[in-house]
Amino acid sequence: MSELTIKDLYVSIEDKQIIKGLNLTIRQGEVHAIMGPNGTGKSTLAYTIMGHPSYEITEGDILIDGQSILGMKPDERSRAGLFLAFQYPVSISGVTVANFLRTAINARRRHAEPPQEDISILEFRKLLKSKMDLLEMDYAFGGRYLNEGFSGGEKKRTEVLQMAVLEPAFAIMDETDSGLDIDAIRIVSEGVNAIKGPKMGVMVITHYQRILNYIQPDFVHIMYNGKIVESGSRDLALQLEENGYDWVREKYGEPELVN
Ligand code: ADP
Ligand code: MG
Repeated sequence: MSELTIKDLYVSIEDKQIIKGLNLTIRQGEVHAIMGPNGTGKSTLAYTIMGHPSYEITEGDILIDGQSILGMKPDERSRAGLFLAFQYPVSISGVTVANFLRTAINARRRHAEPPQEDISILEFRKLLKSKMDLLEMDYAFGGRYLNEGFSGGEKKRTEVLQMAVLEPAFAIMDETDSGLDIDAIRIVSEGVNAIKGPKMGVMVITHYQRILNYIQPDFVHIMYNGKIVESGSRDLALQLEENGYDWVREKYGEPELVN
């Protein structure tokens, strides 16, 4: 069983300290919700785990099964089993959803130990259709350019489709619920539930607890001012829904403004 460990992490961007001593361990099969007010560093955490070059780690480590991944580029981290569903997915004109996904699968296969042959077109079509069925997506999406002209909800659903196809060991979902109406949240969550199983650890980053009505978290963490200040069960999320974040601000103080 694999585990992803974030150890005493400090991250800054443009000399501004955003993450300030964050600790978290996620094992395969576990669902962890990270909740927190806007601007608290949730997306920064997600990008840092994936190896975005703009985020500078000044202290601490990120490890998979005890091995630091800090020296790995984003594509290597992806092959190591990490996946990030973006809060703001980008469009790629000229690349269809199907081509994009097939390329991603083949990149994985070519780098496998030992290397595997490319997936056949037939096998790929079957796989894509089964995952699209899971997410109640129209097959026509496969032929459209990635995210081009997609609605907010369609973009998020496409992110989860990627996750379903790649079956990462650790999936990070950055506010996948934002921009989705309640029916879409339910469908996307059911898709996540169907793919997660014992082999996938999931980090669900969210501002609102409603997605957690569908994706049941094993652990809920509150991130505030660059670190995790509270950890608990699902009750913690319900408490946030009822009382908002004001009590967190009162308990831990207003975030320091660093420039
Ligand atoms: P959250 O996802 O919790 O809303 P973010 O991680 O997006 O928070 O942002 C945390 C802080 O880092 C904010 O103050 C934001 O303005 C700042 N920040 C994030 N990304 C950048 C960036 N690329 N350049 C400058 N500041 C950034
Ligand atoms: Mg964010």
